[in-house]
Amino acid sequence: MKEYLIKSGSEVDLSKWDPDDKRLCPEGKIEGLKSLLEINHDLEMLQELLYAENKHRVLIILQAMDTAGKDGTIRHVFDGVNPQGVRVASFKQPTAEELAHDYLWRVHKQTPGTGQITIFNRSHYEDVLVVRVHSLVPKEVWSRRYEHINNFERLLADEGTTILKFYLHIDADEQKERLQSRLDEPDKRWKFDPGDLKERALWPKYIKAYEDVLSKTSTPWAPWYIIPANRKWYRNLLVGKIIVETLKGLNMSYPEVSFDPAKITIE
Ligand code: ATP
Ligand code: MG
Repeated sequence: MKEYLIKSGSEVDLSKWDPDDKRLCPEGKIEGLKSLLEINHDLEMLQELLYAENKHRVLIILQAMDTAGKDGTIRHVFDGVNPQGVRVASFKQPTAEELAHDYLWRVHKQTPGTGQITIFNRSHYEDVLVVRVHSLVPKEVWSRRYEHINNFERLLADEGTTILKFYLHIDADEQKERLQSRLDEPDKRWKFDPGDLKERALWPKYIKAYEDVLSKTSTPWAPWYIIPANRKWYRNLLVGKIIVETLKGLNMSYPEVSFDPAKITIE
C-alpha cells in the first residue's frame, strides 16, 4: 500500500495522481467486491481484538471534496463491524462555543479512548482548507496551523494513538456526474446541497489547499494516503486494506486470563 502513502516532506502535485487508478485490483469490480467482504470480516475480528486487548487507540481521518464519498466509505468499509466498537465524529461549521476556543478544542475531545476506533468525517484539517479558501481567518493565522497540527498529532501518537489519514481523490468531472445524479434521482435529491455548487466553483483553490495539507502534514506518526476515488469499489477496498494492514501491524493479542479454565466447573 506504500504506493499511496505520502512520504514525509514530499511535495504533492495532485494532477499527477490518477483518480481512476486501480492497480492493486486490475481484475476489476467483481473481484474488488469479493476482497472487500474479506476485509470486512478481518476488520470485525481486529476491532474485537483491539477492544479486548484494551491497549491501543485508533484514529482514522477522512477528508475529501463534496461527493467524494466520505459517508459511503465509512458505511462500506465498516460493514459488519460491531457498532459498539466504532464511533464516527463529524465536524461541521463550528458553533459559537467552539469558535470561542482554539480550533483544536472541539477535536481533542473527540479523539478515541483506549480500545476504541474513532473515524473523523472531516476534521481539524477544515481549519486549513475551507477556512483558508474562504479567508475566514488571515493567512498569518492559518499558515501557523500546519505546525500545530503536526505537534497535536504527535502528542496523540506518543500517548498511544495510531493515526491514519485518507484523502479521497476524485476529479471535477466525476464530481459533476455525482452532483447531477443527485438531481436526477428522486431518492438522492435530499443529498443535493445547492451550496456545494459554490464550493465546486472554488475547485482549484481547494486543490491547492489540499496539496499544501498533504505536503506539510504527512508525518511518520500520522501519514496521509491519497486514495483514488473515482471508482467507489476501489476506494472502499483500498481504505479497508490499509486499515486492516495497520491493525495487523499492532500485533495485538487477547489478554491472559488470571484463572485456569480447566479448574472451573459451572454448576
Ligand atoms: P454531507 O455529505 O452530508 O453533505 P458534509 O460533511 O458535507 O456531509 P455538511 O453539513 O454539508 O456536511 O457540511 C459541513 C460543512 O462544515 C462543510 O462545508 C465544511 O467545510 C464546514 N466546516 C467544517 N469544519 C469547519 C470549520 N472549522 N470552519 C468552517 N467550516 C467548517
Ligand atoms: Mg455537504
